[in-house]
Amino acid sequence: MSVVRTRFAPSPTGYMHIGGMRTALFNWLWARHNGGQFILRIDDTDQERNNDEALGPILAAFRWLGLDWDEGPEVGGEFAPYFQSQRTEFYRAACETLLKSGKAYRDFDPPEAIKADREQADKDKQQYMNVRRSLDLSEAEVEQLIAENQPYVIRLLVDRTAKVSITDQVRGDVEWDCSLINDPVIMRADGSPLYNFATVVDDAHLKITHVIRAEEHLSNTPTQLMLFDALEYERPVFAHIPFVAGPDGKKISKREKYVEKLRKDAKFGKLFQIADDVLPQIGMGSSETINPVMVAYYEAVGFMPEAILNGLSRLGWSFDDKTEQMSLEFVTKEFTLDRVVKASAALDPDKLLSFQEYWISTLSLEEKIDRCVPYLVKSGMISEEVTDQERSYIGKLLTALSERIKLFSDVLSYDEFFVPDEDLEYDEKAFQKRLVKPENAAPLLAQFRDVLATTEAFDAASLEDVLKSWVEEAGINIGDIIHALRMSVTGKPAGPGMFETLELLGKERCLVRIGRTLEILNNNSSPA
Ligand code: GLU
Repeated sequence: MSVVRTRFAPSPTGYMHIGGMRTALFNWLWARHNGGQFILRIDDTDQERNNDEALGPILAAFRWLGLDWDEGPEVGGEFAPYFQSQRTEFYRAACETLLKSGKAYRDFDPPEAIKADREQADKDKQQYMNVRRSLDLSEAEVEQLIAENQPYVIRLLVDRTAKVSITDQVRGDVEWDCSLINDPVIMRADGSPLYNFATVVDDAHLKITHVIRAEEHLSNTPTQLMLFDALEYERPVFAHIPFVAGPDGKKISKREKYVEKLRKDAKFGKLFQIADDVLPQIGMGSSETINPVMVAYYEAVGFMPEAILNGLSRLGWSFDDKTEQMSLEFVTKEFTLDRVVKASAALDPDKLLSFQEYWISTLSLEEKIDRCVPYLVKSGMISEEVTDQERSYIGKLLTALSERIKLFSDVLSYDEFFVPDEDLEYDEKAFQKRLVKPENAAPLLAQFRDVLATTEAFDAASLEDVLKSWVEEAGINIGDIIHALRMSVTGKPAGPGMFETLELLGKERCLVRIGRTLEILNNNSSPA
């Protein structure tokens, strides 16, 4: 077999769709599995937007996931250019070939004539088939119309007696009856190519061996097959993969209405909430700007590329009936098209989170620190110049938090470890419940502060001993002090282990914070 060449051909839309990324991944996997090449081609013929801005997020998504491309934007390649907007001459030449061989023709029918034909067909309860009036024109008449600048489109002349078929690598044998296919327009009146035509010319020129794409393109395939044949190009192998579904079983979409529905879904709602908690803190907008339909979402809120690759590779493909956690290396080795299923595959936020939980557990502490630090810096909790001391402090915090850190941005929920003591905020409800309501909270806290003030060894184990013996001596329950203590030093009702928290904050900060709490309690009983 010749070297496998696959391609992903996005239109530059300003974002990378999570479903599109799955299509891209399957192309990448198939190329890499076979030691072949993966090509990025940019389908920008309908482009009105600035290409750089519209393409940037797409390339960024590939880079973030570590999916490289052998040819395409920025890297170039033997078959450059890789932007359809720059390949017009190829489409013109192919069109010329088809016109010369009589496999395509200029259709001078004005839109009104076509509309009338359609209406007539409707009236007759017949399927509309385009009427080939322009085929009756003599060569001289055609020349004349061209000379008069009469607008025309170019259509492929379909052999209405033929059938075309493929053996799709996912969907099996598929056949189309050409008697039902209208002569497709391949070039518009303004000389711009239509998708079906441009994609065939490019797939042939780029020597694409396997076209792996979303199943919605299956209906374009007969036209493309006829074009491959008419141009005497070798046909690639096709694999139409199932769409990525949302919770409603429909194709997950970036349309506003769909996104609003996703926001209300229990599982997806969690992801939106994460965006709304995290993004404003790091100056990246909110779920209004970045949402879980976009690959950028997962990077922004601190998923690992490994988790997303794992999740995407499981959308419609499996290694066996039980293996869930898989590295890109493993999937690359095992990926074959015959294990891609026909049924649509639903993107499951809980599954992505569970992959994330697994992949983060494989990281060393240093790696975790590296990936959490940018969140702390961007939120302003620490300054850009991170000292060794700060790194070791963050390391201790992450160790104390252990499984509580699932996404790298989760560290932002522990601002109490970074804020100056005088800025510590208290959870209002918990403050009332833990500090104001229990009558003995304030006096016990004051007593224990004095104990802490004389404690020399401020490590978690020693602190635990100190607190436990004091509790025993005082004849109280541990719960009488521990909740009040936590509230006063962190402002929150929950967090990492109490003694680790005290150790991390250190003696001075603990004393200052308890002092501040007592002051509030003595004054007006409300932190606000
Ligand atoms: N630009 C097309 C799309 O994004 C490419 C389809 C194909 O793979 O042929 O839908």
